[in-house]
Amino acid sequence: MNRPISSVPFYRSIGFILTTVFLLLAIVPSATFAALVIDRANREAREQASNQLESVASTKTQEVERWLESGQTVLQLVLLSQNQELEQLLQSDLETEAVLRKNEALQQELAQQGIFNEFFIYTPTGEIMFSSALSQVGKTVSLQPYFEHSLLSFHIEVPYYDVATSRLTIIFTIPIMDAGVGLVGVLAGRADVDELSEIMTNRVGLGDTGETYLVSRENNYFVTPSRFEGYGQNQAYHSYGIDQALAEQNGSSIYADYRGGQVIGVYRWLPELELGLIAEIDEGEALEAGRDLRIQSLLTAIGLAMTALLFGITAARWLISPLRRLTRAAEAVAAGQYENRVAVRRNNEIGVLGEAFNRMADQLVSKIAELDQRLKELDDTNRALKIATNKAREVARLKGEFLSTMSHELRTPLNAMEGFTSIMLSKMGGAEYNEASERYLQRIDANNKRLLQLINDFLDLSRIESGRLELVQTPFEVAPMVKHWQEQIGVLADQKGLAFAVHIEEGFPSTLYGDQEAISKIAFNLLSNAVKFTEQGNVELSIKAAEDTWLLQVSDTGIGIPLHAREYIFEEFRQVDQSSKRLYGGTGLGLAIVQKLARLMNGTITLKSEVGQGSTFTLTLPLVTTTT
Ligand code: ADP
Repeated sequence: MNRPISSVPFYRSIGFILTTVFLLLAIVPSATFAALVIDRANREAREQASNQLESVASTKTQEVERWLESGQTVLQLVLLSQNQELEQLLQSDLETEAVLRKNEALQQELAQQGIFNEFFIYTPTGEIMFSSALSQVGKTVSLQPYFEHSLLSFHIEVPYYDVATSRLTIIFTIPIMDAGVGLVGVLAGRADVDELSEIMTNRVGLGDTGETYLVSRENNYFVTPSRFEGYGQNQAYHSYGIDQALAEQNGSSIYADYRGGQVIGVYRWLPELELGLIAEIDEGEALEAGRDLRIQSLLTAIGLAMTALLFGITAARWLISPLRRLTRAAEAVAAGQYENRVAVRRNNEIGVLGEAFNRMADQLVSKIAELDQRLKELDDTNRALKIATNKAREVARLKGEFLSTMSHELRTPLNAMEGFTSIMLSKMGGAEYNEASERYLQRIDANNKRLLQLINDFLDLSRIESGRLELVQTPFEVAPMVKHWQEQIGVLADQKGLAFAVHIEEGFPSTLYGDQEAISKIAFNLLSNAVKFTEQGNVELSIKAAEDTWLLQVSDTGIGIPLHAREYIFEEFRQVDQSSKRLYGGTGLGLAIVQKLARLMNGTITLKSEVGQGSTFTLTLPLVTTTT
């Protein structure tokens, strides 16, 4: 039967595996490479953004500090230019004219700078004596948050909501000291946060989404406006950056800003103003910077993978094509196309395999031819053998026929001779002879009997060998049969002075099925041999059953049979040695007949013997007690 070598050819699996391996080999490193590059690009973009924000935050911190310093300088200059007069004015009773003059002077000072929108001077008790805004004169500031500090040294009050102007206000103050008296008043400048807002809302270096703003510790309000719509100043804002800055920390991080978007942020604490400065940019925008690099590395990775795939497929093809050719050739040869050869010209193991395959196919062809030739010869021999066998059979048949015819023909005159010899010996019919003649007559009778026995044995043997002996399976009584043997053999035993004992096992079936004549022939042969080869002692016959067989055993105390002769004495015309013939006569056919009959009855014959002690022949036959 022609079975396919495999449902999925091996070379196809190899191709698949190779391509997959190449693909994996390409994908894994290029994907890792791409991931690393992208990660690096992102990290660098974040770092760059963070650095950028740091420098923006630093610049703006410096600007705020500069602004504060400028405010302080301006206030000091105003104090210097006004000081002399002020000390006197503050210590004397004021005249309206003096007040007006002073106010005017302060207004002039105000016009010369761009930080403050009001200068005012108040007494140590907090009463405003002079102001660039006339409406403020006479008001008291003793309850303002800066008042206490302002009496001690230069002070900047952190932004607060001025109720009067409803604006976020920053107050700078400087005490006015008289050499003799000490504190005589305080010069204060009022600035609003517009300047700071301007600094903060300057977007240089902040891209599309970046912003900087100031947050007050008071209620987490924005001191400067958000860059984005909808985020008013007077409400509380929280984010990681805002909270860190207001906890007086400086640093940078990535976090969700007050709008909820992911940002990269830098936070600073400005101690002079007690404000948090935050610089932030959307992370998305920061990462945009690395976009080109990401796309590039992705494309490179895909390119690498495709190249590897192409390479893998080509390599797999190159590797498996000879295998495929080999497989096809093998399949063709297996299907009986022996002339198929494989064209593999590789200088490697596959090439060797191809050559080996071709050589093998050549050998196969020559072996098949050789086998065909042998088969033909065998056929011829068989035919010749058949003819020879038929001839041999024919010869055997003719031999058998000849033997039986000859025996018959011989028996008739022999019987006549035996009859007449008997008559003469019994001196019937007036036969007369002297002593010497009687001895001759007895010799003639004995030889006659031997010849008759020989012919009978011949006849039996030829009948068995030619298959003409047909055994019957009829019931027979055991006891009378054994009694008959006893009578016949008993005479012979008596003549030699031997004891002859017969023993039938107790309970042995009285009736058996089988061929009584054949069994009797075996028993006579064995018993007469036993008597013949025993000079003294006894001969014993015993019959017993053993499971589904029965045994007929003949033992004697005779000369015994040497080991070497135990096989061949069962062959035709074979005796232990020539001396046996001289001493005991016989033809050497008895045991041959015994064995052949035993086999015909599906039985066996075995022999145990010891030279000088005696022999025991055992016939074993199937025990048949019913017809079924
Ligand atoms: P024959 O008795 O006519 O010679 P058999 O075939 O019966 O031929 O026996 C063959 C030989 O086996 C005998 O010649 C004898 O040598 C030996 N033989 C047979 N039976 C006995 C026996 N009971 N004791 C000793 N020798 C025996």
